[in-house]
Amino acid sequence: MTSPRTRERMVIRLQEQGIYHSQVLDVLNRLPRHLFVDEALAHRAYEDTALPIGYQQTLSQPYIVARMTELLLEKCPHPRKVLEIGTGSGYQTAVLAAVSDHVYSVERIRPLSEKTRKRFQQLKIYNVFPRYADGTLGWREKGPYDAIVVTAASSSVPEALKSQLCSGGVLIIPVGNQESQVLKRITAAYGQYQEEDIEPARFVPLLEGRIR
Ligand code: SAH
Repeated sequence: MTSPRTRERMVIRLQEQGIYHSQVLDVLNRLPRHLFVDEALAHRAYEDTALPIGYQQTLSQPYIVARMTELLLEKCPHPRKVLEIGTGSGYQTAVLAAVSDHVYSVERIRPLSEKTRKRFQQLKIYNVFPRYADGTLGWREKGPYDAIVVTAASSSVPEALKSQLCSGGVLIIPVGNQESQVLKRITAAYGQYQEEDIEPARFVPLLEGRIR
């Protein structure tokens, strides 16, 4: 259930669902997704589903992780600096770390942030800089970023995040409420922002403040 063969089958399914970017498919084929959930759930890690990670949060389904990364790479093929809001299990973070030089990742729930920090060490992923904080305002000191990926749904696109993009930078963010959300891609160019609605999405909400 956690073998390379199971992972290959997941990647074939992703291709059938329309994921085409070879770098993304490659990374998902290599990365042991079952190590990002509790052992009791490891046998379900390669199913096409979101999985609970505690604290009412979920590890996103493989399709959406792949899609968000693909949308990013289409606009920005060699990202140097990426900001992620919502570290969660760290799986999307690890995917981003495999396609970029540095990933800054913010999580508002302390135990999740700490658990994931250890996970990155165990997996020898050294180009991720985790932070326990409210990410709605981004992480301005480390910016600007080539790309920003938000893995929780916001009621609108936070201005603070847009303003931390490099020129040519791209923001991938689900926008909406718990009933209806759309995945958006926002590209910055010379102080202007081009906004695209990509497809419907289903994420846990982006919430303000921190939890200890
Ligand atoms: N990419 C993660 C998704 C986890 S779910 C994964 O695949 O595992 C979304 C995460 O966003 C949760 O861990 C939640 O605590 C976090 N989150 C929600 N609002 C946040 C905020 N304002 N700042 C930082 N993290 C936030």
